[in-house]
Amino acid sequence: MESSANTTTTALVAAGPRSRTIYVFSLCAIFLAVAIVFVLGLHLAVRKSDELSAQRQSREIAQAVSNGLDDLAQAQEGAAVWDLLAWELAKPMPDWAWVDENVGQWLHGLFRHDALYILDGADRLVYGSANGQALPPGEHADILQDIGQFVDLVRGRRTRQNNPHERLPGQPLAADNSLRTTPAAVHATDVAIFRGRPAAVSVMRIEAPLHGAASDDRAPLLVNVRYLDGSFLRDLSRNNQIEALHFHRFATGQAHDGEYATELVSSEGKRLGYLMWLPDLPGSELWQALLPLLAATLAGLGGIIVLLSTRTYRLMGQQARNLEQLRSAHVELRAREAQAHHLAFHDVLTGLPNRALFNNCVDQALGRTRTGDSFAILLLDLDRFKHVNDTWGHLAGDALIQEFASRLSGAVSTQDTVARLGGDEFAILAKGRTPQSIAVLADAILAQVRRPFEVLGNRAFVGLSIGISFAPQNGTDRAELMRKADIALYRAKDEGRDRYCVFSAEMDETVKVRAAIEEDLRRALASPGELQVFYQPQIDSQTHALIGVEALARWNHPVRGPISPQLFVPIAEDTGLINPLGQWVLAQACRAALKWPGLSVAVNLSPVQFQSGGFAEAVTSQVLAAGVHPSRIELEVTEGVLVDDDQRVRTALNTLRKNGFRIALDDFGTGYSSLSYLRKFEVDKIKIDRSFIQSIGQAADSTPIVSAVVTLGHAMGLTVTAEGVETPEQRDFLATAGCNEFQGFLFSKAVSEDEISRLLERADPGWQAQPPA
Ligand code: C2E
Ligand code: CA
Ligand code: CA
Repeated sequence: MESSANTTTTALVAAGPRSRTIYVFSLCAIFLAVAIVFVLGLHLAVRKSDELSAQRQSREIAQAVSNGLDDLAQAQEGAAVWDLLAWELAKPMPDWAWVDENVGQWLHGLFRHDALYILDGADRLVYGSANGQALPPGEHADILQDIGQFVDLVRGRRTRQNNPHERLPGQPLAADNSLRTTPAAVHATDVAIFRGRPAAVSVMRIEAPLHGAASDDRAPLLVNVRYLDGSFLRDLSRNNQIEALHFHRFATGQAHDGEYATELVSSEGKRLGYLMWLPDLPGSELWQALLPLLAATLAGLGGIIVLLSTRTYRLMGQQARNLEQLRSAHVELRAREAQAHHLAFHDVLTGLPNRALFNNCVDQALGRTRTGDSFAILLLDLDRFKHVNDTWGHLAGDALIQEFASRLSGAVSTQDTVARLGGDEFAILAKGRTPQSIAVLADAILAQVRRPFEVLGNRAFVGLSIGISFAPQNGTDRAELMRKADIALYRAKDEGRDRYCVFSAEMDETVKVRAAIEEDLRRALASPGELQVFYQPQIDSQTHALIGVEALARWNHPVRGPISPQLFVPIAEDTGLINPLGQWVLAQACRAALKWPGLSVAVNLSPVQFQSGGFAEAVTSQVLAAGVHPSRIELEVTEGVLVDDDQRVRTALNTLRKNGFRIALDDFGTGYSSLSYLRKFEVDKIKIDRSFIQSIGQAADSTPIVSAVVTLGHAMGLTVTAEGVETPEQRDFLATAGCNEFQGFLFSKAVSEDEISRLLERADPGWQAQPPA
């Protein structure tokens, strides 16, 4: 270095003063031009970065207010759509202390709602609470001045283009219920000035869900208020790191130095005020940090002119280092921008990588398999998650997902990637592991999920199924690996859930197996003996007499042995074989009904069967031709048949009922659990699903649910059957609750036709309960 500097200096000196001046001058000009372009470019980047940051914060504030509205209504729905509250308010003298404890204090304590009111059918204020304290009668009587418009909207006395946070009377529910963020109950929700303060306000109709959707526009109303200038703003400011966030009623422009403002506007376009804050300006901060460096660089440039003739190269080295620092500062600015971009790759609820990022990670990992790396993909799916959502609401579902995500993150190692793919589906990318250590990981995760989840004060039990594929063994293409992990996941579910399955080539044969089962079933339908119908006794809850049976298909495969209807019925449904199978079961059931004049015989109908034209007529003529009166046959349909609200299904069910068949709603409570279907589709009986019966005495809230279903079923003139009764405790509870009929292993599993005939020949007509099978 020293010697080359000396050589150049020597060369310049040798070139003479004139050419040395030209050389120094042009070097300076080049440096200056580069420096100016650089400084300008940097400044532009700084401003752009500040602008992006302020825009992002403004969006965050708007989003938080929007979420605040949805959260308010969501939380409120937990109290408003609640039979116990509706019933309490319908009493001549409601117990206000109970209302205060279970509604006022509850919503304040759990969700920090600031004020809460109940209006009666004539819009009179009958209960009020502020800050979790019940108000003396007469206080806040003037709130209608502020929320009169909300009340009119909910009562249907006024309409408007409703906003996405509310559901006004007459507005249909979104087709996919699981995607909605706003509750299904009728409510008007918006920002407003309430008692002189900006607030999120929601006015919701109080309904009794087990009575079906209420349409009474004189229902009492629940009014919930969360002020936007109190704890709400403090939370927002803390969670999103927004500095000095406060509310101003009137425009003060940029009130203080550097303050930004976002308008708070109601959905009808009314400006309520301004949310003001000190924006985070990452670019300016960086700029200030860089200024000394820039000044030093420019000063250095001046120095260069003087010193070029002697120490040219050394200074140029310094200059190069300064420029390098500038360049890295620029890189940092870009990184901050990238960070904002990064947000697009994470799931908001759990903070985990989303599907897009997961796909990227898998693709990168696949790239490294060429150099000998290996990894595993685990696909995870929660079982019974929908049940938690349906029973306790979306907030509980969200809380469960968050808790599950954190348990999952705790179970994996730092180099693994956990992602939420959507809904209750998660995935893990685990690098460089042996199949043994993956098995240990999967077991650890399953153990985590077996612990109950505490969600919003409830204990929920969910199950988990895991499917696993390995790269490069199972493939070197992302789609293929995901498909194989998915096949393994379905196998895990099929094998009874709460377990993991590793993909194996044999599973890919599943498709072939299904084809083989289809072919064998076709053959079995034509050959006698392989298929049979077994009958499960149905018992009168009071007399314990055998009063009916349910026909259940049984298949004893010559090679595979007994195949569960849970396996072959879905295949029969997919392939259309359910039609001949259904006809065959019905034929057997008719023959049996003739043998047992005292018993009713229940037959399961698949939704697929309703799709063929003239179905009701075909069933009727088949039964009449067999010499059986339709009143002897009970047809079991699942809620799945009813939800489509298909005219064809409605007509078919009505025809069947008109022709004398009785209709039973099977697996009640597992699907859409709405008694409102019972109004639209007339049925004679509901069969409460065994998952409810089995949680009697275990899940705290299943017992009141079962009692409520029995009571309301009776109020609608329906017979109520309990399925899957396995213990004397369940039987006794159900008898007390008023259930009419029992079916379950406590009495008997499904048995052959001969066995039923033998039972009927027994002298004692009463049913001796059997110990569980
Ligand atoms: P399902 O209609 O809900 O039938 C009741 C199922 O619960 C039967 O299982 C029965 O054996 C079982 N079960 C009864 N009591 C108890 C109990 O106390 N504890 C427990 N754990 N289980 C009990 P199975 O026979 O395996 O039938 C499964 C499903 O297959 C049926 O559910 C029904 O959906 C379908 N299926 C069966 N036969 C037919 C048929 O002929 N046609 C149609 N479309 N579907 C059928
Ligand atoms: Ca059934
Ligand atoms: Ca059932």
